[in-house]
Amino acid sequence: MEGAFLFRRKMINNISSRKHTARKERLQQKHEAGFMSVQFPEVASIVINMMYNQRGIAKALQRTVNFFPSSYAFFRLDCLSKECVEGGFDLTQVITSMIENRKKAAKGELSCEGRDPAAGHSEIAYEVAIQYT
Ligand SMILES: [Zn+2]
Repeated sequence: MEGAFLFRRKMINNISSRKHTARKERLQQKHEAGFMSVQFPEVASIVINMMYNQRGIAKALQRTVNFFPSSYAFFRLDCLSKECVEGGFDLTQVITSMIENRKKAAKGELSCEGRDPAAGHSEIAYEVAIQYT
């Protein structure tokens, strides 16, 4: 019994330190992405509206994320699952191709890229709205 308890504690410690490392890496990537005003000077604002669905949680969560010229041009959103490591939803492709085509609106769905605890544990339905200067 005690062995199992210790094993579980070790697992939890492991996950939280991996999460910590992942968070630090994420911060680094964010800084490397640079500012919106530099990367996409033609963009006045970006609004991402999403419904977040996590397996085992009945109620979908609504989230809105705004980007302005002073924001980092980093379009990777975190997975809200506590156990999820290195997960998230990458809207970089969607948004950069929208900007290239000066598209104002797009919608779609994405699954979390995290490998833990299992693929398909969460997904989002998103809508992106971009305003140009
Ligand atoms: Zn996840």
